[in-house]
Amino acid sequence: MKTDVLVVGAGFSGAVVARQLAAQGLQVLVIDKRTHIGGNAHDRTDAHGVLVHPYGPHIFHTNSLRIFDFLSQFTAWRPYEHRVLASVDGQLVPLPINIDTVNRLYGLDLDETTIQDFFDRVREPRDPVATSEDVVVNAVGRDLYETFFRNYTRKQWGLDPSELSASVAARVPARTNHDDRYFTDRYQYMPRDGYTALFERMLSHPNIRVEVGMDFFRHRGRLKARHIAYTGPVDAFFDHCHGRLPYRSLRFEHEHLPDTPRFQPVGAVNYPNEHAFTRITEFRHITGQAHSGTSIVREYPQDEGDPYYPVPRPENERLFKRYDALARQEHDATFVGRLAQYRYYNMDQCVGAALKAAEYVLAALGRDAMDTAPDAPVQPAAASGM
Ligand SMILES: Cc1cc2nc3c(=O)[nH]c(=O)nc-3n(C[C@H](O)[C@H](O)[C@H](O)COP(=O)(O)OP(=O)(O)OC[C@H]3O[C@@H](n4cnc5c(N)ncnc54)[C@H](O)[C@@H]3O)c2cc1C
Repeated sequence: MKTDVLVVGAGFSGAVVARQLAAQGLQVLVIDKRTHIGGNAHDRTDAHGVLVHPYGPHIFHTNSLRIFDFLSQFTAWRPYEHRVLASVDGQLVPLPINIDTVNRLYGLDLDETTIQDFFDRVREPRDPVATSEDVVVNAVGRDLYETFFRNYTRKQWGLDPSELSASVAARVPARTNHDDRYFTDRYQYMPRDGYTALFERMLSHPNIRVEVGMDFFRHRGRLKARHIAYTGPVDAFFDHCHGRLPYRSLRFEHEHLPDTPRFQPVGAVNYPNEHAFTRITEFRHITGQAHSGTSIVREYPQDEGDPYYPVPRPENERLFKRYDALARQEHDATFVGRLAQYRYYNMDQCVGAALKAAEYVLAALGRDAMDTAPDAPVQPAAASGM
């Protein structure tokens, strides 16, 4: 069968592009080097019958009705608001930092009228606010920074917060109220039947073929398509010609605890200062599954392994820009997603970027091009990739 578009990667970015293009009548082949669909959001039932996220906990949240509506075609939802506690000095306190975090930590009795005065007293103003350390110290001062952020960041990224862009710490701002939800987005839900079921439905279309266990680079020569939507690491596409872009990886240690109704009080407990792992997630909170036992995962950050996180720092952004310049010259390829755009995207942001990328691909192929030369190798088209 002819292939109009080859989509490399069956995660959120690839699956959304594939579905949008298939809906426009294009023949799409989706490949993934892993043996399953869903990318890092893939979920599956473990040996004990518990639904787990093999690549770490994935909580869906978005402020975009468009993205929520788009995904709602492929799943029903279960309301879920994620809560995180941090284990500090023998007690569990809410994260992001809120009034209760400060009160419990320092034995105070602050409320919504006095918490900002407290932050104003302890904060160390920084100008400019360039790094993650600047963001936190500027907002809540050195002691809270050292208690919650410094060591956690060193574990998570292998870097001191002073070496990371401001954007990393800006993701979890301190609160001046009692809100203990980790996210404040308007739509906070989990796919009712899990992510993999959502992906199965999204990729189930007469114009989409899926081949898993297929590495693009091993089969590049024989995979003919008129356009490629690439969602893997951007530096790999160009044979690392400018050097390797750093991606942070993780080792996941999954454990099942039989006959344990509950391991911890909330979905995730962070360990900023103890242990080599950063956090423990207990899946039953997130999925709502009833089971006599419970399954948890510990995350150990590391440099080697599958690329999970682009590392946001200025020199990496500069290197990425050089690859981005190459990508923009590839008129027969579009680069989208966390790895290809080297962006610390959440799932909803990947969906948004992929919806946009599908429009680029359609423009690049053009209406006329859709009816011609189906098996020919890729030809340069009018519009540039992302
Ligand atoms: C531990 C962890 C927790 C997270 N938690 C959340 C969360 O709670 N909420 C949230 O919104 N987001 C979360 N994210 C982010 C989320 O995983 C991403 O935003 C999203 O899954 C990225 O989708 P993607 O399709 O761009 O990339 P991926 O999911 O990485 O998919 C890319 C796919 O491309 C494939 N691929 C790569 N190279 C090749 C090749 N050469 N040939 C064939 N296939 C290839 C890969 O195998 C992979 O399956 C988390 C990420 C991690 C790592």
